[in-house]
Amino acid sequence: MEDFSRHTYFFDDGIHFTCRQCGACCTGAPGVIRVSDMEIEAMAAFLNLPIDRFMATAVRPVDHGFSLCEHEADGSCVFYEDGCMVYPVRPRQCRTYPFWFSVLRSEDRWRQVARQCPGIGRGRRYSREEILQIVQSTF
Ligand code: SF4
Repeated sequence: MEDFSRHTYFFDDGIHFTCRQCGACCTGAPGVIRVSDMEIEAMAAFLNLPIDRFMATAVRPVDHGFSLCEHEADGSCVFYEDGCMVYPVRPRQCRTYPFWFSVLRSEDRWRQVARQCPGIGRGRRYSREEILQIVQSTF
């Protein structure tokens, strides 16, 4: 795996971010939110649903695994309804947003995402090291 610590980045001085739970990243254009077996079990348990029912209604197969489903009408996450219904046990991909490789790969892309995410630029400061750790945890 590439050693990201050897490079310089636009976030070398850290980034302030605290999620405001606005739901902007849970709604809108559809995408893939990968979920592991452990995350599926945790969400099913949290919702008090048998695993087979959870699998039949909340996830769809994608390359080498499963993704959370979305509502067909608007592309929003199947668990978004005036807030995240599984917030305490949400998948790692949701927990690590917006510190995704695809978002941090350029400052332009980061600025674009920052226009949609009101949590960026506010609250807790994440150091360069913490950000790199989070990014690497998503591989
Ligand atoms: S768009 Fe940003 S502030 Fe809103 S829910 Fe997503 S991460 Fe949180």
